[in-house]
Amino acid sequence: MYNIIPAPSNNHEPRLPGDPIDLIVLHATVGSYQGSLDWLRNPASEVSTHYLISKDGRIAQLVDERNQAWHAGTSFWRGRTSINRYSIGIELENLTGSRGFVGQDPYTQAQVSSAAWLVGDICARRNIPRDRQHIVSHAEIAPRRKSDPKGLDINALVQQIGGYSGSVEEDVWYVVPQRVNIRQAPNTDAPVASQAYRGQKLYVDAIVHGERLMGSDLWVHMKRMPPYQFDLGFIKLELLRHGN
Ligand SMILES: [Zn+2]
Repeated sequence: MYNIIPAPSNNHEPRLPGDPIDLIVLHATVGSYQGSLDWLRNPASEVSTHYLISKDGRIAQLVDERNQAWHAGTSFWRGRTSINRYSIGIELENLTGSRGFVGQDPYTQAQVSSAAWLVGDICARRNIPRDRQHIVSHAEIAPRRKSDPKGLDINALVQQIGGYSGSVEEDVWYVVPQRVNIRQAPNTDAPVASQAYRGQKLYVDAIVHGERLMGSDLWVHMKRMPPYQFDLGFIKLELLRHGN
């Protein structure tokens, strides 16, 4: 049992009725504990997290788990976008990437122990499976855009709490309509790179903002997978259905 220090941040919003909370997203701060705590509580930053863990293992709580903290940004995971809606965010104090810091700042044992306890506690309270489908890095839900928490061994953390650290199956999406154009950029003025067909399997690389169409500005950038049936390019998110 750990002592959790209350440090409320107003940078949050209510969750939507019916949204499951079944994902834990791990982050690194790119800065000191105190500086990060101040920033995550500053209304001007418009960012936050549910928990922040210092190098000496202290756990601060900024946002109640019943609310959405603003930690994920543009993100997607297994068919969902706007991952703040479904997740609990945990930041670990770490200097990697911060101004004037060279190299990889290690996570301390006290910090990783606190993180493992907290993740295990959340999983137990919320009945979240202890596996890599439900315990993820910011980099995994915002590839290309984010790389944190760099250097943290999430597989080891999941093992430490008695979970399954093996990889989960590939995230697959299917084309819904008859045939869709794959564009070279996320807008309908961009040249057509190739086409995808109804039922074709696609592997999503990243979700990006582009032309507003069909109710959102979200487009998907495809990952190239063997046997390279199509060129890399962009499809409107709403033309795809998630599934395995
Ligand atoms: Zn992050």
